[in-house]
Amino acid sequence: VSGILRVCAAHGVPVVAQGGNTGLVGGSVPDDSGTAVVLSTRRLDGIGDIDRTQGQVTVGAGAILAGVQQAARAAGFDVPVDLAARQSATVGGMAATNAGGLHVIRHGTMRQQVLGFEAVLAGGEVLAHLGGLLKDNTGYDLAGLLCGSEGTLAVLTRLRLRLVPLLPHRVTALVAWPSLEALVAGFVAIREQVPSLETAEYFVAAGEELVLETFGGARPFDRPYPAYLILEAAGPSDPTELLAAAVGEVPGVLDVAVAGSAAGSAALWRVRELHSEALGAAGPPRKYDVTVPVGRLTRFVDAAVRLVEDRPGLVCHHFGHVGDGNVHVNVLGAEALDDEGREALDGAVLGLVAEEGGSISAEHGIGRLKRDWLHLSRSPAELAAMRALKDALDPMGILNPGVLLPPV
Ligand SMILES: Cc1cc2nc3c(=O)[nH]c(=O)nc-3n(C[C@H](O)[C@H](O)[C@H](O)COP(=O)(O)OP(=O)(O)OC[C@H]3O[C@@H](n4cnc5c(N)ncnc54)[C@H](O)[C@@H]3O)c2cc1C
Repeated sequence: VSGILRVCAAHGVPVVAQGGNTGLVGGSVPDDSGTAVVLSTRRLDGIGDIDRTQGQVTVGAGAILAGVQQAARAAGFDVPVDLAARQSATVGGMAATNAGGLHVIRHGTMRQQVLGFEAVLAGGEVLAHLGGLLKDNTGYDLAGLLCGSEGTLAVLTRLRLRLVPLLPHRVTALVAWPSLEALVAGFVAIREQVPSLETAEYFVAAGEELVLETFGGARPFDRPYPAYLILEAAGPSDPTELLAAAVGEVPGVLDVAVAGSAAGSAALWRVRELHSEALGAAGPPRKYDVTVPVGRLTRFVDAAVRLVEDRPGLVCHHFGHVGDGNVHVNVLGAEALDDEGREALDGAVLGLVAEEGGSISAEHGIGRLKRDWLHLSRSPAELAAMRALKDALDPMGILNPGVLLPPV
């Protein structure tokens, strides 16, 4: 990698690092100038021995998440971040986009798991800090800086990852509520009682109807309800009783289904997991993957639905990870708008996110697609600091130009 970057730097050739190419904001694909080198990291797929003394592992940036999970689980550990693209996403791509996934409420995002790194700067210099010390207060957190940098500051080649104990007992519950507001309040109360909670996902009646109309199959309950919360808890002993007691104490619960087996859990997840496919079949949807503070989630969603559906021909669907405020806003009908109409819609939805104190990118990063809206989530001073970092580490601007920040 160092050799490739040295040659590219000498000739001023742009380099686009690419892992599993599962990011959806155009960060891993070069522009259409035809001048860039795509540097695939997929052969950097080594997985080191599990270090039991520290609960860590060093892996190549091109290692696929599912492979790292398999190695960790064989040793009684697990990778704290999990996501649906696990069979293709690389650990380097996950770090470069600061991936979140299904267990953020318990373990945080990739930035919290990366304890050390090896990376190559634009001129070919190799930086390595792979010790994985939990206490290491020796200056700037370069690993943290590279997490979320989307291939614009360096190419990651190895990562030292934090692992967590593999928890043998897991329970899934689907809880029905009279409204999204009641669901969010209920989730907050349940989380206080259940520290082993790993996942909290929501969907609403309109999404359930769309999935059932598109794919058929049974409803999760014998009648529809306005809002649904999927909870998953995991522990060294069975967390079912603790979760049941917490759900039982919360006001407003209309119905509950519980599963302790993988098959039962898959049945409870079915409607939620088919949302993206159902929207794809009805679409193409215009997607906004955003975060707002959990306390403002209901207000944001109500305003977003109004704002979208006030425009003739548009329908707004939403679902997401209630535990971390990550809402997937999907707009159907936007393909009928002209470029100006689509831009106005993007500006209105993302502007609302900013007004509510949210982030325009919860997952995937900024890439090319959201670059021109970054100012909604970052102040002019922050943007200037980011530009200064980019200029310092990549003075020729050859690393992923046009991604995250505008090209110079
Ligand atoms: C079905 C599906 C589900 C998903 N679920 C989630 C989810 O729950 N949470 C979430 O956060 N994301 C999710 N994603 C998005 C995506 O999987 C993640 O962003 C993932 O981390 C990208 O990894 P990748 O290897 O595919 O990276 P790529 O898509 O190849 O690259 C992504 C970015 O990282 C840069 N990059 C890649 N490798 C390196 C490297 N070694 N060094 C420097 N830069 C690099 C690229 O240049 C690009 O900017 C999902 C995607 C799909 C398709």
